[in-house]
Amino acid sequence: MKTALITGANKGIGFETARQLGQRDFHVIITGRDEKKLEKALNILENEKGSYEYLVMDVSNTLSIAHAVLKFKESHHYLDVLINNAGILLKNDESLARQEEKILQETLQTNCYGALNVTKVFLPFMRSGARIINVSSGGGSMSDPVGGWAPAYCVSKSTLNALTRHLAYELAPQQISVNAVCPGWVKTDMGGGGATRMVSKGAETPVWLAAEADQTLTGKFFRDKKEIDW
Ligand code: NAP
Repeated sequence: MKTALITGANKGIGFETARQLGQRDFHVIITGRDEKKLEKALNILENEKGSYEYLVMDVSNTLSIAHAVLKFKESHHYLDVLINNAGILLKNDESLARQEEKILQETLQTNCYGALNVTKVFLPFMRSGARIINVSSGGGSMSDPVGGWAPAYCVSKSTLNALTRHLAYELAPQQISVNAVCPGWVKTDMGGGGATRMVSKGAETPVWLAAEADQTLTGKFFRDKKEIDW
């Protein structure tokens, strides 16, 4: 049985990705920063098909990441799929020129350093054939019209895309693939009620990359299982 670890999986796209991978016979480790929320999520998942556990991990905190990897090591030798899904979009993220610098710092800490630091500590458990999937956003695209909404968030996703490209290059000799995904505009706490996609659709491409896509695909950006421009 393959093992997948998903960050920020107590709700939203991460939770749904966990559910869908559990149905595909993965052992899924849901992670999040709040143990109570993880317990609740695990209770729901345990009523469905699949094998699940939770691990507390605040991706913005290197100590929390270090604790999580120690705990992981107690019962696992390998990780087949890592999905860096945890993300934030802060309320007052309106203008890079005018807003406090801490909005960008906090956003980068979770959306970029979070993904990078989690990747670094779990990499020693990933063998040839493993997959890393970074949940990005069309807002991070540098070819779509740029600007107009949540600029710190969009910069963080452009940076996550750049991290994806560089890590894909660095990890190619180990046959570990690294790709980015735009889930589309999804009805979650982040996406809001006006979003056009159900959460099951938002999870579709991360699940495809984890379970079905050709593992040799790497260094690419996908939406709806199709490559899109950076
Ligand atoms: P969501 O419902 O708000 O879920 C975000 C998840 O990330 C939650 O589990 C949250 O935990 C977790 N998280 C935030 N900061 C964390 C931290 N420091 N450590 C660990 N977990 C943390 O949002 P979503 O829509 O499912 O978003 C999932 C991913 O998709 C994000 O990367 C987002 O940028 C991306 N995305 C979403 C959309 C959309 O339309 N929804 C579009 C494009 C991209 P808490 O419950 O503790 O807050």
